Amino acid sequence: MNAITLVFRGNLSAQLTDPRATAEEIRYPLARRASIKDIIEALGVPHPEVGGLRCNGAEIDFTYLPVHQDRIEILPHVPPVDVCSPTRLRPEPLPAVAFAVDANVAKLAPLLRMIGMDCWYQANVDDDFIADLSRRQQRILLTRDTGLLKRKQVVYGHLVRAQEPSRQLREIIEFYGLRPLLTPFSRCLLCNGKLQAVEKNDIRHRLEPLTEKYYDSFRRCGDCEKIYWPGSHRQRMERSIAAILAETGP
Ligand SMILES: [Zn+2]
Repeated sequence: MNAITLVFRGNLSAQLTDPRATAEEIRYPLARRASIKDIIEALGVPHPEVGGLRCNGAEIDFTYLPVHQDRIEILPHVPPVDVCSPTRLRPEPLPAVAFAVDANVAKLAPLLRMIGMDCWYQANVDDDFIADLSRRQQRILLTRDTGLLKRKQVVYGHLVRAQEPSRQLREIIEFYGLRPLLTPFSRCLLCNGKLQAVEKNDIRHRLEPLTEKYYDSFRRCGDCEKIYWPGSHRQRMERSIAAILAETGP
């Protein structure tokens, strides 16, 4: 019977769910005509997790139809991943780094917004909606759901490994090399809108007495109009950002 050899490199082998896939290197029978993308996903690895493909040493893309005796290496992404440059697997890069966050990692949304990243999140949407949105709005889909990442609409996505939200944030900063892009406190934590400086006089009527007394510098969300100022809340966030950055690489 015709067969190929598949070699899952790095952490990709940890995602293999097919019972035939017991090792990093797999002998795979070619029972039907299937693209390499379909074969990889049938074994458990969602296509957005793949950083590169090599067949008998030469680069290939997801549409490649394997033939008898091919030896195909499936390579993981190598951080920092640059989504704004074209690659063989993803020839249409994103115009900017932007995220869409799935409900199973919902706490990442305010954390990414806190460091200034463009981050879409909405509760109670189905998988189809968020997969479509990630494509339409050119966003990286962040989720812990491998089934969602396997959807064909998804081009850029990442399976979040960490459980705890601040560790998840650290994981995303390192994976996408976000440090040079960070602009903390420039976005609304509630709605992702951009914050703009606003005169105290224009919003005085909306301030609590103590806030009005002690603070003079304010910013307002351009979308939902929530008001922000550098109070104790912000100092806590500054400390947590500093702690997270201290533990991430350059
Ligand atoms: Zn807002």
